[in-house]
Amino acid sequence: MKTIGFIGLGAMGNPMAKNFVKNGYNVLVYDVSENAVEALTKEGAKGCDTVAELAESSEVIFASLPNGKIVESIMTGEAGVIASAKKGSCIVDLSSVAPETSVRMYELAKKKEIAYLDAPVSGGVAGAGAGTLTIMVGGDREAFEKISTELHCIGKNVFYIGKTGNGDAMKIVNNLMLGCNMAALAEALTLGEKCGLDLETMNRIVSISSGRSYAQEAKMEKFIMPGSFEGGFAVALQHKDLALALETAKKEKMPLPMTAAASQVYGLAEAMEYGRQDISVVTKMWEDLILAKSE
Ligand code: NAD
Repeated sequence: MKTIGFIGLGAMGNPMAKNFVKNGYNVLVYDVSENAVEALTKEGAKGCDTVAELAESSEVIFASLPNGKIVESIMTGEAGVIASAKKGSCIVDLSSVAPETSVRMYELAKKKEIAYLDAPVSGGVAGAGAGTLTIMVGGDREAFEKISTELHCIGKNVFYIGKTGNGDAMKIVNNLMLGCNMAALAEALTLGEKCGLDLETMNRIVSISSGRSYAQEAKMEKFIMPGSFEGGFAVALQHKDLALALETAKKEKMPLPMTAAASQVYGLAEAMEYGRQDISVVTKMWEDLILAKSE
């Protein structure tokens, strides 16, 4: 059994690392949060004090971190993952980052004969827990094939989609759709409520009509109808993903008018301190701003 290193034990990283433990791997973990490390050591993983300690002893090193800046900070430098990892090992970044971040890390890793794959995921915290994530992988095919068993420990639908950065690009495309769909759902529901419709009626009808979406299916009954937005996919992360889409489009010289508008909605939600809550909280934000005024 390979030794797995896992860096970043948050909403997604915690259940993914647990799945490696459950599957019998020797799992080394690191996070800046001591509590996050402790939660995994209780499950049978071994906590490391530095990423260097983790990288030195792992054959496959996974990272699930909030953004590209943090990914670069742990990968690079004298005591970073790339400097410390063994020749022949493989680094797999599961975070949602810009394609250029992965290209830079891939080039640095290659010089040290270390494989680097960008492998962002979709399926949320529930998919991470169940080991049923969709994983979109960019990088060298040979490296991808070597760690196929490990990827299937955390994902059900695992896709190799070509060169380094393609996984990231695919994830940006997916999350652009999710962010726009959720922002549209929130304003549509608030308009409906203003017209006198209730959430239950709208959900019942939309779920069998042409307005339905993943956002409606995954968010209505779980978060919006009970009015509870803990856990799930954080507003701050969705806002970051739309920023990645806008930056990528700028480089490609194309406008993204829907994305630009949706990005402002999540920006407003962050400014209103909803950053850690599930993205469906934008419905509550509109309800509070619009409906409270009309009462
Ligand atoms: P999170 O904020 O819950 O977890 C991130 C973890 O990284 C935290 O435990 C934090 O302490 C740790 N961390 C931060 N800086 C660190 C550092 N320098 N070194 C080590 N650890 C550090 O985020 P998450 O929801 O688990 O998301 C992780 C990644 O997966 C993000 O890129 C996100 O966009 C992506 N993603 C999230 C979801 C979701 O539903 N939450 C779904 C798909 C993809």
